[in-house]
Amino acid sequence: MGEIKKLETAKLMKKVMADHFYEIDAACKSGDPKVAWCTSVGPAELLRAMGFVVYFPENHAAILGASRAANDCIPAANAIGYSPEICSYLTADIGAYLKGFTPLAKIYDGIESIPKPDVLVYNTNQCRDVKDWFEWYSREWQVPCYGIESFVNVGEVTKDHVDSIAGQMKQLAAKITAATGNRLDEDKLKETVRLSRRCSDLWREVLEMAAHIPSPLTFFDGTIHMGPAVVMRGTQVAVDYYETLLKELQSWVDQGIAAVEGERHRIYWEGMPIWGKLRENAKLFLDLKTCVVASTYCNSWVFSAFDPDDPWNSMARAYTELFIVRDDDYKEEYYKRMLEIFKFDGIIFHDAKTCPNNSNCRYGLPQRFSQETGIPFITIDGDLNDLRCYSEEQAITKIEAFIEQLDG
Ligand code: SF4
Repeated sequence: MGEIKKLETAKLMKKVMADHFYEIDAACKSGDPKVAWCTSVGPAELLRAMGFVVYFPENHAAILGASRAANDCIPAANAIGYSPEICSYLTADIGAYLKGFTPLAKIYDGIESIPKPDVLVYNTNQCRDVKDWFEWYSREWQVPCYGIESFVNVGEVTKDHVDSIAGQMKQLAAKITAATGNRLDEDKLKETVRLSRRCSDLWREVLEMAAHIPSPLTFFDGTIHMGPAVVMRGTQVAVDYYETLLKELQSWVDQGIAAVEGERHRIYWEGMPIWGKLRENAKLFLDLKTCVVASTYCNSWVFSAFDPDDPWNSMARAYTELFIVRDDDYKEEYYKRMLEIFKFDGIIFHDAKTCPNNSNCRYGLPQRFSQETGIPFITIDGDLNDLRCYSEEQAITKIEAFIEQLDG
């Protein structure tokens, strides 16, 4: 049985993430700069260009999941009326707050709590849950909460879509200035969009390293290394991080080092990771000599539309072009493009019980894609954070049978 191979750059990741949390903690304690909370595909560039340090609660919720603390926290949110059926990031995060708990305090000496924000900013492009989540904290702390109300099920992204979202972004900036006094620096906005674009391009190159056969990277590695693309896009730190990671991956490719020794099969993962079982799942596929080479989830922080010469429209387009915002026809074509790049021989749909937004197996999409391409699929029942929704034995049996089928 092989061991999971670790990239050296993972050590740098630990430092980069620690610096990120200490920076926000220091800002929160001193009051300068002000702290903004932002959804994971919210307008981070705008907030940085307005002088905020930016904190991403979904990242915190994923840490709750990965450290297996989520299941102790979720009931506390259920008890105040937030259903076990809704986003388990939301329930884990609010539940943790209600219990006075954060894993950050365990990981980082001196950090005692999550940072209280000066403003909460969401974009409903991914789901309505983020709005409800932020509004809860807004009521709890009497802090202003603003957002962008996005389109859903978008086919082609049109000028009307872009105009609407760009207009909302401008109004958002004005509301934030009125509430906090922080003003937008237009030059800084251009620079931040430039850095986000560079980060996004590098992140895409990192993910596309998995197109090599054998792949130097798995989906499970991707869920760890995506950290800077999520919480530090728009900064030089994120750019430097991915330049380093890319060099290491290139050296693995040059030496023929495979993430999964003896790679026999290549799989596409559709849907959220199961954070509390990341290591177990990585090991399961490793032992099956199967590399999960790509995923919609990790690709979600590739924003190819960012253009520093046209920051407002390009931000509006980038945050509307996302996979999660699109209709099923677009999604099916997207999988076909992924198939061409990554040459996978099977696809696993994760039906995450508390996230219908990231579960694309409920309206016949897997069947349509499979019929057209001949690529077989399975669906596994689970969840991003709530492990009560995940039957590990059942998932393992299904996955093992699927790989046997691919062998055949
Ligand atoms: S997209 Fe899903 S996991 Fe993410 S915040 Fe929304 S409901 Fe939660």
